[in-house]
Amino acid sequence: MDRRAFLRTMRILEARYPMKDWTTGMRPFEVLISTVLSQSTTAANERRGLEDLRHRVGTITPERLADTSEEEIARAIWHAGLARRKAPRIRAIATAIRDEWGGQVERILALPTRRAREELMALPGVGPKTADVVLAMAGGHPTFPVDTHIARIARRWGLSRRKDYESIRRALEDWTPPGKRKEWHLAIIAHGRTLCKARNPRCPECPVRKDCDWYRRTRVRKQRPDTRKRGASTKG
Ligand code: SF4
Repeated sequence: MDRRAFLRTMRILEARYPMKDWTTGMRPFEVLISTVLSQSTTAANERRGLEDLRHRVGTITPERLADTSEEEIARAIWHAGLARRKAPRIRAIATAIRDEWGGQVERILALPTRRAREELMALPGVGPKTADVVLAMAGGHPTFPVDTHIARIARRWGLSRRKDYESIRRALEDWTPPGKRKEWHLAIIAHGRTLCKARNPRCPECPVRKDCDWYRRTRVRKQRPDTRKRGASTKG
């Protein structure tokens, strides 16, 4: 897919999937914790883990989580999966935000994008994806976070020869106007959940299949055996 096809595709997808901002009403620290919880799990399980955590500690603040034991956090976030790995991270992040940033993730988000990204990634257990989600969703920074749906669709569209996180992010940021990155990030995720699923993507219903590399390739592959078959039966 080239740049023009990408822009055409994204105009279709942004119309098809009106933006649903899952961070509405959340403070930046909650967005950060929610993004850590979402690692290696579904959105539904992450939401359940976050709700249970709210139920356990009340308002999710750095101070409260830093004062809660890892065991208690692990019990609360059980539904989000990998609780024993995520609980120490969450507590360590809360402690770092409380002690180094006066309890305010907002202070990190007020920094220029590159610096804010570095500071977020310096927090325990925060990698590029988590940092980019927090920057885009809680800070209004022009990053293009790449989750599992976006990575898969970018591969299907042939947006980047390389498969690593940074290459895909750069490809998407190169082609997406800064003001559209958050909206298009959410639109591609919605497309990945609705039609362009990991297994059995619903290509015949897809409004962007005309420009999709994967669709063209698989269609050609499906046609080839038919052609051979037809040839064989003619000979027979
Ligand atoms: S045509 Fe298929 S593979 Fe391509 S974007 Fe649509 S659903 Fe995904």
